[in-house]
Amino acid sequence: MDTQSTNFSKDKIENRIVLITGANKGIGFETAKQLVKKGLFVYLGCRDIERGKAAEKLLNENGYQNVKAIELDVTKADTITAAKNTICQEHGKLDILINNAGISGIVPQKALETNISNYQEVYEVNLHGVIRTTQTFIDLLQKSSEPRIVNVSTSLASLTLQSNPKWPAYDYGKYVVYASSKSAMNMYTVHLAYELRNTAIKINAVCPGYTKTDFTNYIGGEVEDAGKRIVKYALIDNDGPTGKFFSEESNPETEEIPW
Ligand code: NAP
Repeated sequence: MDTQSTNFSKDKIENRIVLITGANKGIGFETAKQLVKKGLFVYLGCRDIERGKAAEKLLNENGYQNVKAIELDVTKADTITAAKNTICQEHGKLDILINNAGISGIVPQKALETNISNYQEVYEVNLHGVIRTTQTFIDLLQKSSEPRIVNVSTSLASLTLQSNPKWPAYDYGKYVVYASSKSAMNMYTVHLAYELRNTAIKINAVCPGYTKTDFTNYIGGEVEDAGKRIVKYALIDNDGPTGKFFSEESNPETEEIPW
């Protein structure tokens, strides 16, 4: 499915309001840039508003005004509620929520050795942060005619792939804290899609691919490709999937991968 082939008319695109968490840099920022370029209005959710304003300025300097930094730390419920109130006052709805903010935790992450506090810190952002943000924004999403949620995941979170000795990451993907936090987020995605199955909301987990950002010490593929992979599922039309897990890197053919 090509993003360009979505059924949204120009008018529909320009009326769409997006919130991306962790959008001041990396994949979140690139995703924001691509959506802003398409004409959508994007809130850059940033835990540090100064870093957010710098990202907003960068987009403004490139000619894009349809963007605004908003303070949002996914570990702090009061900042999420304040962001929701601001978006409600300014637009009265949210069309697309991209739960992108994420951390990897201290490495190495050995199943037998890693301290529980490392799990708690990572789960607080990667799992609880997604739940908090989604629960807070669900009312605003339900005010959209075509609401979408993208939960940014990783193919390392696939239980099926990670337990297959033939999978390329079987031996090197040893990030038990990070991977299990995203597996839990994936299960949240499955339950959410079930609970919302009779609504217009479409929600999917999407792996952006191994990408050059701070997260990977700038090893991996291009951030533009990662952004495109997320944008694609943020803009799926009404016939698009829900409750699925996609990784173009792991399955270039259909992109769907097993949980
Ligand atoms: P990144 O460059 O490190 O960016 C992470 C973003 O999350 C930053 O904006 C960071 O803000 C923000 N963040 C961290 N904790 C937060 C919190 N408590 N509240 C709000 N925002 C918070 O990483 P990235 O590579 O772009 O990763 C983005 C997402 O893609 C993550 O969910 C990651 O798991 C996923 N992913 C990445 C790769 C990859 O190879 N890069 C592969 C698969 C999946 P600060 O600047 O303030 O720290």
